[in-house]
Amino acid sequence: MDCIFCKIINKEVNSVVVHKDKTFIAFKDINPKAPVHILVIPRQHIPSINHLAEDDKVLIGGLILTAQKITEKLGIKNTGYKLAFNVGEGGGQVIEHLHLHILGGWETKEKMHKQKIP
Ligand code: AMP
Ligand code: ZN
Repeated sequence: MDCIFCKIINKEVNSVVVHKDKTFIAFKDINPKAPVHILVIPRQHIPSINHLAEDDKVLIGGLILTAQKITEKLGIKNTGYKLAFNVGEGGGQVIEHLHLHILGGWETKEKMHKQKIP
């Protein structure tokens, strides 16, 4: 399948991985919109939030909890951060493999507010 995030999972494309387990991987965004910008993705190829079904409740909950763990590891859990899903073309989604953006690490509130997300 011609999906860049599946290629990252399969190590056909390089990335800076910050977390991996049997269900998810997380890596640095190649074009960061914040001092800390990580993408958390399921290993399973699900195109977007719109493609989730009832059976995916555990998966999507796990994705958010994984993001929380990563913020702790990267030292932004207590200072705060943003989590974002872009959904579909009108929502700014470019890569059609479900991904959760973690953005944080701004020095000041002003710098954070200047940033368009994501
Ligand atoms: P979205 O607009 O929500 O689909 O976000 C896709 C994100 O993937 C963008 O922030 C891109 O900078 C990022 N991205 C695209 N290709 C790569 C890559 N090879 N490695 C890491 N991040 C990527
Ligand atoms: Zn994929």
